[in-house]
Amino acid sequence: MKKKILVTGGAGFLGSHLCEKLLQYGHDVICADNLFTGSKENILHLMDNPYFEFLRHDITFPLFVEVDEIYNLACPASPIHYQYDPVQTTKTSVHGAINMLGLAKRTKAKILQASTSEVYGDPAVHPQTENYFGNVNPVGPRSCYDEGKRCAETLFFDYYREHKLRVKVARIFNTYGPRMHPNDGRVVSNFIVQALQNNNITIYGEGNQTRSFCYVDNLIDGLIKLMETNDDVTGPVNIGNPNEFTIKELAEQIIEMTHSTSKLVYKSLPENDPVRRQPDITLANKILGWEPTIELEEGLTHTINYFSEISSSQNLDVKPERFEKYFQKSVSESA
Ligand code: NAD
Ligand code: UDP
Repeated sequence: MKKKILVTGGAGFLGSHLCEKLLQYGHDVICADNLFTGSKENILHLMDNPYFEFLRHDITFPLFVEVDEIYNLACPASPIHYQYDPVQTTKTSVHGAINMLGLAKRTKAKILQASTSEVYGDPAVHPQTENYFGNVNPVGPRSCYDEGKRCAETLFFDYYREHKLRVKVARIFNTYGPRMHPNDGRVVSNFIVQALQNNNITIYGEGNQTRSFCYVDNLIDGLIKLMETNDDVTGPVNIGNPNEFTIKELAEQIIEMTHSTSKLVYKSLPENDPVRRQPDITLANKILGWEPTIELEEGLTHTINYFSEISSSQNLDVKPERFEKYFQKSVSESA
């Protein structure tokens, strides 16, 4: 059945893939985005589709549309972008959630929140299960994002209990793939861009911190499956790839795959940077029958191809040196 679906943050990295997939499934998609970190380039290929509509809109303000489902993805996701204007980041998560939940209440739409593994903070439990309450600093530089997302989860469950709304909360772990913003400082895009340009690869700390990387196509399938579950399934549910790598291993793999002459340089670790992160996806597997199928090497191949194409284009400005001012001086350089 054709549904009218609102995707907030639909011009961003994940949002654009989600819009694309929902259109492929035959739905009528409204993408609402203020283009803070998203871009029209990400959705240009969808613009000719009569079932796709782009609204330039900031979700901290109310939105009046008629829809059956809402995917609430609007929020800057990379540390550089969410720390640029932290007050606006919290407003986007909190006021944005209130506005979108209000819209869901009026239209009786089902609503999914793109939450994050950051709700676990620097976790004391490993791997992270959904019943772990997290270890989050409420007053640090990452708090605008972490606490904003935690408050959004609270609002989702209060609307569920108080107004019987149909809610779904996905806790997304590090995801990568084509259309990541080349300048947003996230580790996969940074390392690929640096490797392709044979520039130094910037490792923060000693590179022993771990992350578990999920390829975007797998993630989008997980979100859609969650939205399609019965109304009694609310989550929160972890969606991510449990294969865990150190940041140094990631750097070495990217250097090898791009045949780069880049060297590793070590910079100081940003404050509150989590030491380990790995999702326990038992719940997603049980309730959604979902697990990731695309492993790091395959996903990196697609992502490297994408960045090779855009870095040779005249229009895109790829400037990894932009991050220097955020992450202080190099402490050592590998031979
Ligand atoms: P992104 O920055 O590419 O996309 C976010 C989009 O939201 C952008 O298009 C941006 O312009 C838009 N936006 C920001 N503030 C807005 C506002 N006030 N009103 C309207 N639009 C606004 O990031 P992404 O990686 O695609 O992340 C999408 C969502 O998934 C975010 O909510 C993020 O917190 C969550 N998430 C992503 C990851 C990941 O690894 N990519 C991990 C955990 C959670
Ligand atoms: N990181 C790094 N070099 C970079 C960018 C990031 O070593 O050029 C590290 C960062 O300190 C963190 C990890 O890679 O430990 C993942 O960072 P990202 O910003 O991608 O995501 P998050 O910290 O939100 O998981």
